[in-house]
Amino acid sequence: MVRYVYDFRDGGRDLAGLLGGKGANLAEMTRLGLPVPPGFTVTTEACRAFLATGAEPDGMAAEVSRHLSALEGTTGRLLGQPDDPLLVSVRSGARFSMPGMMETVLDIGLNDDSVLGLAKVSGSERFAWDSYRRLVQMFGSTVMGVDPALFGEAMVLLKGAREAPDDVHLDASDLAWLVETYKRLIRDETGQDFPQDPAGQLRQAVLAVFRSWNAGRARVYRRREHIPDDLGTAVTVQRMVFGNLGPGSGSGVAFTRDPATGQPGLYGDYLPNAQGEDVVAGIRDTVPLSALERLDPRSYRQLRDHAQTLERHYRDLCDIEFTIERGTLWMLQTRVGKRTAEAAFAIAAELTGEGLITPDEALGRVHGEQLGRLMFPRFDTGRAGPELAHGVPASPGAASGAAVFDSAEAVRRAAAGERVVLVREETTPDDLPGMVAARAVLTSRGGKTSHAAVVARGMGRVCVCGAQDIAVNTGARRFTARDGTVVEEGTFISVDGSTGAVYAGAVPLVASTTMRYLESGEQTGSVVAAVARALEHADVVRRLEVRANADTPEDAARARRFGAQGIGLCRTEHMFLGERRKLVEEMILARGDAGRDKALAVLLPLQRQDFAGILRAMDGLPVTIRLLDPPLHEFLPDRTELAVRVAVAEAAGGQPEPHDVELLDAVNRMHEENPMLGLRGVRLGLVVPGLVAMQVRAVAEAVAERVRAGGSPRAEIMVPLVGSVEELRLAREEVTRVLAEVGEETGVAVHCPVGTMIELPRAALTAGRIAEEAEFFSFGTNDLTQTTWGFSRDDVEAAFFSAYLDKGVFASSPFETLDREGVGRLVRIAVEEGRAARPGLQTGVCGEHGGDPESIRFFHTAGLDYVSCSPFRVPVARLEAGRAAL
Ligand code: ADP
Ligand code: MG
Ligand code: MG
Repeated sequence: MVRYVYDFRDGGRDLAGLLGGKGANLAEMTRLGLPVPPGFTVTTEACRAFLATGAEPDGMAAEVSRHLSALEGTTGRLLGQPDDPLLVSVRSGARFSMPGMMETVLDIGLNDDSVLGLAKVSGSERFAWDSYRRLVQMFGSTVMGVDPALFGEAMVLLKGAREAPDDVHLDASDLAWLVETYKRLIRDETGQDFPQDPAGQLRQAVLAVFRSWNAGRARVYRRREHIPDDLGTAVTVQRMVFGNLGPGSGSGVAFTRDPATGQPGLYGDYLPNAQGEDVVAGIRDTVPLSALERLDPRSYRQLRDHAQTLERHYRDLCDIEFTIERGTLWMLQTRVGKRTAEAAFAIAAELTGEGLITPDEALGRVHGEQLGRLMFPRFDTGRAGPELAHGVPASPGAASGAAVFDSAEAVRRAAAGERVVLVREETTPDDLPGMVAARAVLTSRGGKTSHAAVVARGMGRVCVCGAQDIAVNTGARRFTARDGTVVEEGTFISVDGSTGAVYAGAVPLVASTTMRYLESGEQTGSVVAAVARALEHADVVRRLEVRANADTPEDAARARRFGAQGIGLCRTEHMFLGERRKLVEEMILARGDAGRDKALAVLLPLQRQDFAGILRAMDGLPVTIRLLDPPLHEFLPDRTELAVRVAVAEAAGGQPEPHDVELLDAVNRMHEENPMLGLRGVRLGLVVPGLVAMQVRAVAEAVAERVRAGGSPRAEIMVPLVGSVEELRLAREEVTRVLAEVGEETGVAVHCPVGTMIELPRAALTAGRIAEEAEFFSFGTNDLTQTTWGFSRDDVEAAFFSAYLDKGVFASSPFETLDREGVGRLVRIAVEEGRAARPGLQTGVCGEHGGDPESIRFFHTAGLDYVSCSPFRVPVARLEAGRAAL
C-alpha cells in the first residue's frame, strides 16, 4: 500500500523528495531532539495524484485523520475543541525551496466557539481574536480566493479609525469586529460562509496548498529556477505555537552565521508579540537578535545552541524559523541557507578549517558564477538604501546613472556627458543606440534571454531585466516601485546586474579585492584567502586544462596572470582592421599576382610583430593561432553606403570617385546572401592565393625570432571551418611547405603542430578521416551550435529565443550552455573517432561554452584535454573544471 502521510518522527532529511524540504527537515530536527511542535506531512506523491485526477488519492483522507487523531492524543486536545482547541498550521513545502510562492494557512481549528475557549485557556482575549482574524484572512484569500487587498483595506480603515499605528495597538473588541468584517467580505465575494467545521477547514486547506503548486507565480518561479513542473508540493500539518501571546512571546528568523559575509555567530531578526508571517511581511520593524538576548536570555541561549547543533549536523550554514511562546522556544523550520558569493567562499574555507568538511566538499560548495560575481566592482550595499526593485540578474556588474525612458533621451544625455540608465518595459532592436549610450539597462519584463539581456551581455552592459515589481510609464517618463516610490526621468538609480537589485540614488562602488588578487596575487581579507584556497584546490583536482581566447599580448599576459595554461584561440582577423584595413583592401582589389603579393608583403611584417608579442607573453605555453576566418568583404566598406555615395555623385552630374567605383564593384562581386555559410575559413585560404602562405610565414618567422631571442615559442596553426579532410590536406600542404621554407631561410627548425577547428557537423561526422591530417581538434562550439541547429545566432536570439524558453523547447540558450543531446553528441563522436584514428590527438574547445560551468562539466566527461575561454572567465573555468572532477 502506498503511504501518503509521515509523522515527523518517521521521516528525515533523506526523504526531501517525498516530504518536501520543509517536512523532511522538520522530521530531521525532531530526530535530533530539538523542540519542534509535533505534526505530520502529506507526501508530494499525494499532491501529484491529486493534481493529476482532481481528487485525493484513495486512502489519503483516512491516513490524514488517523495522524490527526494521534496528534490530538499527543497534545491532549481535539482540533477546534470549543473549550481548549488544538490549532494547526497547514504548510506548503516542495523539494526545492520556492520562497513565498505557495500557500500556508495558520490557526486552523478556530471558529466562533473555539475562539472563546482559546481566550479563556490562554487568559488573553486579544490573542484569541488576533489568531482568529489571521485565520479568516489567510483562509479567505488562500482557500476561498478572495483578493487579499480587500482584507488589507479593512485593516487599514480600522487602524485609522482607532488611530492605531500598527496591529498590536488594536484590542480584542477591535479584532472581533475585524473578524466579522472579514467574514462578511468572504460572503459578499464568494457567496459562501467561512467554514466553522474544523475538520473541513483542515481538508480544504490541504487541498488549497496542493493547488497552489500550479499558481501562476509558482510556475514562473520554477521556470526561472529550472525546477521541474511535475514534482508537486508536500503539505505539513503542525500544532500551532503562538508568538502573538503578548510581549513575552514572539517570532523570528535566524542564520547560523552571517549569510552576507560568512562570519560565524548567530545572526537574524526578531519580532515580539507576532506570528511568523509578520516577520517577513515587514508590517512592523524587527529587532536584531542581540535585542532578544536582552529580552529573553534563556531562549536566546537555547536558540544559539540549537543553531550550533544544526550547523554541525548539516555541516553548512542553516537558516531557521523560530517562535517563542511565553518563554518557551520552538523550532519551526530549517534548511541549508542561501548566501552571498562572499559568504559561500568564506564559509567553505571556514568549515574546512574547522575540519567539518573536506577540501573536495568545500570546492563543491562554491560556484563559478559566484567567483565571476566577486570579480566585478560591487556596490557598497552598506551605504545603499532599501531596494527599489528586484529583477533577473542578466548581465553582471554594478552601475549608476540618471533614469531615462527612451533610447533617444539616453543618447542625448550621454552625449552631454551624463551617466544614464535606460529603463524600459522591454527593449527592441530600436533601443540599441540607447543601450550603447547607457551604463545599465533595466526592464520590467523578460528573462535571461530577452532582447535586453542578450544584447546587454554581448556589449558588457550591466542589465537587470524582468523587474516585475516596477511599473514603467514610458509616456509619463517615470516608473513606480512596489513600495510606491516614483522615479522620474533624471533621477539617479543604481543597478546591480550581478544580484538583480535596484537602488535609489548613486550607491558608491567598491573595487573587487578578488580581482586584485587575480591580477597581482595579493591576498587581502578572509574572502580573498578563501577564493585562493578554492582555486588552488581546483587546480590540484582538475583534469581539464584551461586556456584563454586572446588576440593581443596584453590579453595574453592577463590570461596568464589569471592562470591560463596557453592560448586556445588566437584570432587573426582583428589584426586586419584599423589602419591595416587599407592594405587588406589593396590585397582584395589587386588585379594579378604581383599587386596582391605586394599588398601581402606589406602585411607580413605587421602580422609577424603581432605573433611575436603574443608568443613572448605566452612563452613556454601553447598558442593556437587560427588562420583568417571571416569572409573578406567584412574588411570592405558597407555596400549600401558605397552605392549611395556613387549614386549621389552620378546624380549630381559629376564623376564618382574611381576608387569608390572600383570598391563598389568588388563589394558587389563578393556580396553573399549568407556570409556565415559562404566564402570563409579554409575556403578562403584555398581560393585566395598567397593568404595562407603570408599568415604561416608570419607565424614561422615570429617563432624563429623568439627562438633566437632565447624564448620557447609554442605556436600551433589552426585551420578553420574544415568540412572535409581534403580541404585540410591541401591547406596543410601549404603550411608545411612554408614552415620548411622559413626553417631553411632562418636556420631555425620551426615545428608547429597543425590542427583544425571542428565546427561543422560534417567535420564531426568524418572526424576519423580528418584526424589523419590534424594533430589537434578544437571544437568551435559557437559555429557548431549554429550549424547543427541551423540557427543564425545574430538573428535568432533576439527574435524568438525567449518564446522558445517560455514554451520549454529548451531550458537555456544553446549558445550559453552546450546542447548535450545534439551538439554534445557530435563532440563525443569526433573525440572518439578522432582518437581512434590518431591516438594522443589533442582536443579542446574554444567556443564561448568553454567558460560556461554546465558546459565545462560536459567537456570534462567527454574527455577533452582543455577548455579555452575569454581571459576574464579563466578563473571561473579553473574552478569549474575542478568541480567537474570531484
Ligand atoms: P513559507 O514557506 O512561506 O515560509 P511557512 O510554512 O514556513 O511558509 O509558514 C509561514 C510562517 O508561519 C512562518 O513564519 C512559520 O514560521 C509560521 N508557522 C508555520 N507553522 C507554524 C506553527 N505550527 N506555529 C507557529 N508558527 C508557524
Ligand atoms: Mg518558512
Ligand atoms: Mg567558427
